[in-house]
Amino acid sequence: MTEGNGVPFLDLITPHLELEDELLAAVREIVRSGGFIGGPVVERFERNFAEACGGEYSVGVGSGTDALRFALIAAGVRPGDVVVTVPNTFVATVEAIVQAGAWPRFVDVDPATFNMSVSALREFLEARCEIESGSGALLDRESGRPVTSVVPVHLYGQMCDMDPIVDLAGRYGLTIVEDACQAHGSTYFSREKQAWQRAGSIGAAGAFSFYPGKNLGACGEAGAVTTNDAQIAGRVRMIRDHGQSRKYYYQVEGYNGRLDAVQAALLEVKLPHLEAWNRKRRAAAAVYQELLAGADGIRTPVEPEWSRAVYHLYVVRAENRDALGRHLSENNIGTGLHYPVPLHLQAACARLGYGEGDFPVAEKAAREILSLPMFPQILRGQQEHVAAALVGFCQTQASRV
Ligand SMILES: *Cc1c(COP(=O)(O)O)cnc(C)c1O
Repeated sequence: MTEGNGVPFLDLITPHLELEDELLAAVREIVRSGGFIGGPVVERFERNFAEACGGEYSVGVGSGTDALRFALIAAGVRPGDVVVTVPNTFVATVEAIVQAGAWPRFVDVDPATFNMSVSALREFLEARCEIESGSGALLDRESGRPVTSVVPVHLYGQMCDMDPIVDLAGRYGLTIVEDACQAHGSTYFSREKQAWQRAGSIGAAGAFSFYPGKNLGACGEAGAVTTNDAQIAGRVRMIRDHGQSRKYYYQVEGYNGRLDAVQAALLEVKLPHLEAWNRKRRAAAAVYQELLAGADGIRTPVEPEWSRAVYHLYVVRAENRDALGRHLSENNIGTGLHYPVPLHLQAACARLGYGEGDFPVAEKAAREILSLPMFPQILRGQQEHVAAALVGFCQTQASRV
């Protein structure tokens, strides 16, 4: 791609062209087998994905949203519970909590990483909750509901600071379900365990999406739950299949949320490439970091030393974000906003009772963030074009004041 053609935000064509023969052969095999739902292809992918995530089990489901919803239910979230998460995430995090019958409560995010703020979580648990005498349950003061779980979201491909979250969850008896839908292969160095840990392997369960644009994407809708707990894995297997333990014997209320064999076969072809693709994303992030060093007024992503992010998104910050977005668009550069309106200010979440000013860090982020083109096959020349446009914008801004 030349400069004149601009730079797309995402390239979903090239990786599939590179693997086209293998992908089509995999689909052909499924078509010829007639085994479209479940079966050995799904099971093989589940085993391989669990291994790639450093966990015991993975259970394939219909989407990342299914994965979150099923993981929450299987991990023990009950109707009426409070589940704590962050407002600056994809809407599915909150959909899944609500659809599991629970009540979402938000805590603000860290201003450096935009991931769940440990101090905000601690403040919520200490100051806004109380232990019910008698039952010993942790109650959310405002709603009177029991607080049972927390969903840290590994946003943009970078993991949350899990040690203190695990510590707080342990202290308050909370179950952790990781929203790892943007973090396939992302790792975190646990100071506690003195070991690198993978996204989806730390909480009671982790939820992954294989939406086509994710770091590991299907050619359609797909997702998976990861867990080290055989019981949780078993429950997810039931929930995804109408709650049945064997055909037509329904143990629990379930859903139609299975991973189909065609998607599993396509994912199986792509999975061996995930690590290399993630390495390329990290290399592209390093190139941006170097090229944008001279762009005054643009703040590049922060990666703490305990994190190896997989840059599902490469998100910069600028005070005049909207003008910058327009400038890049005029230069034929695709950008994204992840996300323009935090969930506590969305119409769909009005009944949660939040308002402007409740989560100032997330709100400021929503005004300043801009996602730049990021995909494994991005060329240095493309990144140079993006960086030149950014630097050019900063210079015109500077000369105006
Ligand atoms: C993509 C995504 C989801 C939902 O995944 P789907 O496969 O689209 O249902 C959930 N949470 C986050 C953070 C995501 O990025």
